[in-house]
Amino acid sequence: MNRQSSIVNRKSIGAGALKYLVGGVNSPVRAFRHVGGNPLMLRQGRDSQVYDVDGRAYVDFIMGWGSLIHGHRQVKGSTVLGLTHPAEAELARLMVDAVPSVEQVRFTVSGTEACMTAVRLARAVTGRPRILMFDGSYHGHAESVMAGKTAGISAAATREAMSVPYNDIEAVARAIRHHANRFACVIVEPVAANTGVIVPEVAFLKRLRALTQRHGILLIFDEVVTGFRLALGGAQSYFRITPDLTTFGKIIGGGMPIGALGGPARFMKRLAPEGNVYHGGTFAGHPLSMTAGAFTLKKLHAHPPYGALDRAGRRLQRGLQHAAQRCGIAIQINRLGSMLTVFFSDQPIRNAGDAARSRRQQFAAWANGLRRHGILIPPSPFEALFLSTAHTAQDVDRLITASEEIFTAMGNGA
Ligand SMILES: *Cc1c(COP(=O)(O)O)cnc(C)c1O
Repeated sequence: MNRQSSIVNRKSIGAGALKYLVGGVNSPVRAFRHVGGNPLMLRQGRDSQVYDVDGRAYVDFIMGWGSLIHGHRQVKGSTVLGLTHPAEAELARLMVDAVPSVEQVRFTVSGTEACMTAVRLARAVTGRPRILMFDGSYHGHAESVMAGKTAGISAAATREAMSVPYNDIEAVARAIRHHANRFACVIVEPVAANTGVIVPEVAFLKRLRALTQRHGILLIFDEVVTGFRLALGGAQSYFRITPDLTTFGKIIGGGMPIGALGGPARFMKRLAPEGNVYHGGTFAGHPLSMTAGAFTLKKLHAHPPYGALDRAGRRLQRGLQHAAQRCGIAIQINRLGSMLTVFFSDQPIRNAGDAARSRRQQFAAWANGLRRHGILIPPSPFEALFLSTAHTAQDVDRLITASEEIFTAMGNGA
């Protein structure tokens, strides 16, 4: 089966990619292994559509894994300058104006670096070693947050990291009791997007804030996905909870590589050159990323799309739910605003364990079927579909109609 799918992959992704790139890709999920379908090579994107190397068009619900809130577009600007560009301060100001807990910003090249640096800063501020995370969450692939998820991690990093189930405040309380005064930070996706969408119970986030505060533990909101997607002020303004540090990425770069961390000046000033916590980078604050990001955020400030995106999301959710009901397929749709995951499951999905028990073969049949209809969704049951302002009502309807056809075939045992 594996061998077969790799032969198919070879055909569709091109021998060059497979020969010179590991697995034919530069990020594992792009290899389509979760759905057993052929990986795709895309040439370009425009508005809600992407085009593959053979010129076939697809309605795109991957949207750069949530990076594109206005759809696909082109950017122009200078390549690296090596000193500070005015757009860096402009993008930082747009973020500070929007996000309640952020007074200062440091830009990185990726969300990975932003989370890595936030954890380092939390350790420096608290003088403590340990970090607490949640099962199934993703905070990039730095050493500190990859313990237990990959080979090649040091024993020290493994010892210092701990992970408990999402939405389980008792597990957090137990961990804190057990390792009193040893946790530097809790890092959390305020809406989980990397186990598929998991909406937090509001009481969970509120109690997480209270517990960390009481124990002098920094609360890091990883808003790489939720920042500027749920609301201008991200999940923290949506839920009215103030974290100590926040990480950003994806949308704030307008489709260009970016990451950022932000927080109160008293913490941010611990970063070099003001303080002794090192972070820097040749491409940090890259002019193209800053320009594309500032353009995007100015547009979001001028025309907040969140009401319309939520209505489109609700329409999609209802349409899919009805289609599945009519065909006797049990699904759970987890959605907040413009981010949504369909789990093929009879049970509500509250954490990574629930997500892992969903029926993956049905997911694969759905994803591969949609692709034959010219619709692209993330090729993994543990990712989110993203809506953008470029998606039309017709795009959403096409997804619903195609899904109903696929669900019908599934219901008939195909
Ligand atoms: C994508 C993502 C990251 C990592 O960002 P990269 O730019 O891919 O390094 C971190 N946290 C979350 C929640 C993400 O979705």
